[in-house]
Amino acid sequence: MKVLVVNCGSSSLKYQLLNMENDTLMAKGLAERIGIEGSRLKHEVPGKDEVVIEKELPDHKAAFKLLSDILVDKERGVIDDMSEIAAVGHRVVHGGEKFSGSVRINDEVMKTLYDCADLAPLHNPPNIMGIEACRQLMPDVPMVGVFDTAFHQTLPDYAYIYPLPYEYYEKYGIRKYGFHGTSHKYVSLRAAQLLEKPYESLKIITCHLGNGASITAVDRGKSVETTMGFTPLEGLAMGTRCGSIDAAIVAFLMEKENMTAEQVNDILNKRSGVLGISGVSSDFRDLEQAATEGNKRAQMAINVFAYRVKSYIGSYSAVMNGVDAIVFTAGLGENSVSMREKICEGLDYLGVEIDREANNVRGREKIISKAGSKTQVLVVPTNEELMIAKETVDIIG
Ligand code: ADP
Repeated sequence: MKVLVVNCGSSSLKYQLLNMENDTLMAKGLAERIGIEGSRLKHEVPGKDEVVIEKELPDHKAAFKLLSDILVDKERGVIDDMSEIAAVGHRVVHGGEKFSGSVRINDEVMKTLYDCADLAPLHNPPNIMGIEACRQLMPDVPMVGVFDTAFHQTLPDYAYIYPLPYEYYEKYGIRKYGFHGTSHKYVSLRAAQLLEKPYESLKIITCHLGNGASITAVDRGKSVETTMGFTPLEGLAMGTRCGSIDAAIVAFLMEKENMTAEQVNDILNKRSGVLGISGVSSDFRDLEQAATEGNKRAQMAINVFAYRVKSYIGSYSAVMNGVDAIVFTAGLGENSVSMREKICEGLDYLGVEIDREANNVRGREKIISKAGSKTQVLVVPTNEELMIAKETVDIIG
């Protein structure tokens, strides 16, 4: 069974074609600058050189058309006919409270998706646009929506309700939703497989540390707490996002700096985090380099980041009354040996013992704790596309 996985942004379309007989990647690519001058499609088949096609792509439908042309292309394609694609899995950022799992897309689901668009104004409208375009081009192919928020719909109410007047929850749906759900689900499932233990028996803390970063407490297969909230701004310090701060700072800044809500929002989302603290970069490779060269603020940014991760690990161990495994994933979690070591330093009260040699690993699955460590620590590269394809197969049956 071949499944196409699609992730549409406002001017982009990311895709992967996967063969689900053996979970392998057949092709992947990215259409960029859709609707903007200079649009192009980058297409890659494992083992072959990347192809770049410069072509005007006025909308997502045009991007899908070009994508389908290249998939069946005699030279650069990987299938003979588009009818070989059994299903399409679409990544959707926000499913609100309406979707607690993946869902087969039909007209009624599309209507509900439009209703959720308000909750993620930057992400959901392009996701919806992509689904519409794909449905027009492949009307007979079953499609599934996989939501970033769905995995966290198992949070208990005392974890997702904010201590605000309850009417705002009822009126606007203001509550914690959590994000990166597909990634947290994938790496926690993989961790259980690598540890050769039943998923339903483990208490796992998953640390998705990329440009956007979040941590989840997965208690016997269910997300029970997570750091991101109503939006992806809450929780950890991130590349450019501030994470959790005293909410009173917003009004204070608006008044002192004579700023609008939009301007403050922009600062909290795009000019804060480790970039804001360091003034150097949002990229941890630059920060690590600057810190080695003696830049104090770069070092401070790294310290703030690691400290928050560590404090959430402590908090989530309390939430679950223990922890069996801690999993690191995403760009920084998969690749930064020093950040993992720093985070795990001083977690011996939890029974965490890192094996320094095993921790010297980048971008591949590995148990990095010592053999006798009470709490196991693992690196598991995330694979959201594969998870979306698996969910799609499950739903289509
Ligand atoms: P996102 O998908 O949220 O954009 P990624 O998961 O790609 O983010 O992670 C990007 C982050 O990972 C960047 O801050 C980058 O510096 C960090 N990163 C990637 N490789 C390394 C590495 N070898 N060492 C340290 N940090 C790394």
